[in-house]
Amino acid sequence: MPIDAVIAGGGVIGLAVAWRCAERGLRVTVADPAPGAGASWTAAGMLAPVTELGYEGRELLDLNLAAARRWPSFAAELGDAAGSAVGLRECGTVAAAWDAADLAGLRDLAAFHASLGLRSEVLTGRELRTIEPALAAGLPGGLLAAGDHQVDNRSLVRALRAVVARLGVDVIPARVTRIAGTAGGTEVTLDTGDRLAAGVVVVAAGSWSGGIDGLPDPPPVRPVKGQTLRLRRPPGLLGHVVRGSVRGNPVYVVPRTDGELVVGASSEEAGFDLRPRAGAVYELLRDAQTLVPELSEAEFVEVSTGVRPGTPDNAPLLGRSATDGVLYATGHYRNGILLAPVTADAIADLITTGRTPDLVTPFDPARFQARTEARTQGGPS
Ligand SMILES: Cc1cc2nc3c(=O)[nH]c(=O)nc-3n(C[C@H](O)[C@H](O)[C@H](O)COP(=O)(O)OP(=O)(O)OC[C@H]3O[C@@H](n4cnc5c(N)ncnc54)[C@H](O)[C@@H]3O)c2cc1C
Repeated sequence: MPIDAVIAGGGVIGLAVAWRCAERGLRVTVADPAPGAGASWTAAGMLAPVTELGYEGRELLDLNLAAARRWPSFAAELGDAAGSAVGLRECGTVAAAWDAADLAGLRDLAAFHASLGLRSEVLTGRELRTIEPALAAGLPGGLLAAGDHQVDNRSLVRALRAVVARLGVDVIPARVTRIAGTAGGTEVTLDTGDRLAAGVVVVAAGSWSGGIDGLPDPPPVRPVKGQTLRLRRPPGLLGHVVRGSVRGNPVYVVPRTDGELVVGASSEEAGFDLRPRAGAVYELLRDAQTLVPELSEAEFVEVSTGVRPGTPDNAPLLGRSATDGVLYATGHYRNGILLAPVTADAIADLITTGRTPDLVTPFDPARFQARTEARTQGGPS
């Protein structure tokens, strides 16, 4: 039987795309030497369009907000289909101010949020400690983003693996080395030497997406190293995701319902060097304990290192590549867990109907092709 779609990469993006395609009746194969073990495993699982807001513009904000709205139904549907909980926790996020200057910054941010129609609320020091009593005494105030939630990204990976297995998706433990268009479709070469013919190939290999041979417009994705720590305390230490910037160093603590606490995250331009760095572990523990002193009593469980798939404009590449039959679903940078539901639906729609939702069209990979062509022709760069 011919394969309809080969997905190169089985992180949350590739697996979610595989799920939505298999659900629509396509015959799907995922190729990945270590499914689920990339950034999707290291991540903290924040679903945070408001507190992760950057300066990338309205279109990415709208995509992130749409993704956040999609999460409750996506989690419920996936949980049912997989037979295992996804671990969505609708707990809101608190950003704690470290000092008066920081609080002034959070007030400005709240005004900016309001101008964009986003929900956030400035808190006094007393209000902050009332809703999060474990925060350090003396913090001057904070910001509540009541709609920024979290999901246990590792439960998510497990659920996606279970659902694709249930739907008969073939998961091959191999790396895609080359993709080439052929007269009848697309051919994928694996590092085992095997070749697969498919109607369509989706490149969803996260930070490694640009390293596959044969593509005239390799996705401009670079690895941005990040470390998270996993700690454990009896459940209930924190009720919200807690973020802060301690003497200018950003840090967050994401409390799971079972007592796991994810502390993150460093951000380093270090290529594919996945070795944990002692200084990053030290800084994360130091800053997290400054905000939440009781963390010094927590069990230290794990340090995890991953690479965020960064792009030149910090936005994902979603749609057709320059090669017929090859689609890109990559470059999700800091928000790939948040964006998994909208990405999966958009790519499955594109494969089955030939169209993508309007929300996704600004993220057409061709925006980088156009830049490359302009540069080659001496146009503005
Ligand atoms: C420290 C850290 C914290 C983060 N926190 C958050 C967060 O709180 N919220 C959020 O939304 N996002 C977060 N992210 C970002 C998020 O993890 C990523 O955007 C997301 O996981 C990207 O998913 P992916 O499937 O594209 O990539 P990955 O999960 O990296 O998966 C890529 C897969 O491709 C496979 N692969 C590589 N090369 C090949 C090849 N040639 N052929 C086939 N397969 C290949 C790999 O084995 C891997 O399994 C965080 C990331 C990091 C590193």
